[in-house]
Amino acid sequence: MECKRCGNTDKNYFYKGHKGIYCRKCVSFKRILLEEEQTPLDYEVSREVSDYYFAFPLTVFQEDIALKCLRQIKESDVLLHCVCGAGKTEIVVRSIEDYLKRGLKVCYAISRREVVKELYIRFQKIFPDAEVVAVYGGHHDRLTGDLIVCTTHQLFRYYQTFDLLVLDEVDAFPLSGNKELMHIALNSARGNIIFSTATVNDFLRDVLKERNYKELKLYIRPSLKPMIVPKVYYGLKPYLGILLFFLLKRMDKQCIIFVSTRKECRTLYHIYRCFFNCTYVYSDLDKRDENIMAFKDKKYQHIFATTVLERGITIKDVNVIVMNLHKGIFAEENIIQMLGRVGRNYANPNGEAYILSRYRTKDIRNSVGFIKEANELSEMSLL
Ligand SMILES: [Zn+2]
Repeated sequence: MECKRCGNTDKNYFYKGHKGIYCRKCVSFKRILLEEEQTPLDYEVSREVSDYYFAFPLTVFQEDIALKCLRQIKESDVLLHCVCGAGKTEIVVRSIEDYLKRGLKVCYAISRREVVKELYIRFQKIFPDAEVVAVYGGHHDRLTGDLIVCTTHQLFRYYQTFDLLVLDEVDAFPLSGNKELMHIALNSARGNIIFSTATVNDFLRDVLKERNYKELKLYIRPSLKPMIVPKVYYGLKPYLGILLFFLLKRMDKQCIIFVSTRKECRTLYHIYRCFFNCTYVYSDLDKRDENIMAFKDKKYQHIFATTVLERGITIKDVNVIVMNLHKGIFAEENIIQMLGRVGRNYANPNGEAYILSRYRTKDIRNSVGFIKEANELSEMSLL
């Protein structure tokens, strides 16, 4: 027995209701019977989509990989392996345009709701004539349009529907390590998939093993500037607290201070608000979006954040401090993503990055090593 939706074959997860058999692995998406036929979502793409429009031109390196991606995606899946801030979204735009103009169905899926909202606005600017539709938890009355931007969790609504699926941040929660969700995501495409990521982990390698794909790499950011290598300080909590104070005091840019727990986020905010104009954010905070927007609008100098701000959201011209007060909470991928928030501004790619850590961990060492290595590779490709 196999669940057609999530691929589960473990019989312990099937149960018999009075209407028939259900799969419990994926029942949280929407209750369907095992024998229930799933059908592709049928809708028209207008084809009236005009050329894409960018506020900034692509660099020759982005242009090059964008063309390679466009050529390759017609043959097989593509693994787009780019450093943070390389402009992954811009790189896939050429492929998206090509599909839309042929009247084919395209979806851009990413894990977080707030990133979907941001991408929705970005894609409306890139394709001003296309009808862009955003779909996420609590926002799914409209499911069809020219270009669908949704959370990976919403892909269960689109069985075998898309001719081109862009799966962004495949290395991240909740997709990474979640076989059922990955199965549902893969099942939403009837055509090829662009897997887009900054780091390739074992889970993703396993998924790709089963598929026909080509890897395309880009280590150069649009600014042509290397990623900022962080300064790392180790010490006891009080020392790190004082250090944080002086670092923030000296900064003339906005700073995101990443912490590992909600409690820490609140505590540090309540201490440092006495000295700085700052705010805070974590995933289930009521004022989450409000605080993020206010920070983006530069109403606050600094923001304390859990990893909710780690990915996707582009805030221009900021510094980053990673406060690591616990062992083993921040993995290498998280640290790279957090540090990747620095220097995202095309016009002003500079910034400062710090890791203040209570412990010496392998993940910190590896992430700094990764950034240095990516910079070296990037330098070599620039020669
Ligand atoms: Zn299932």
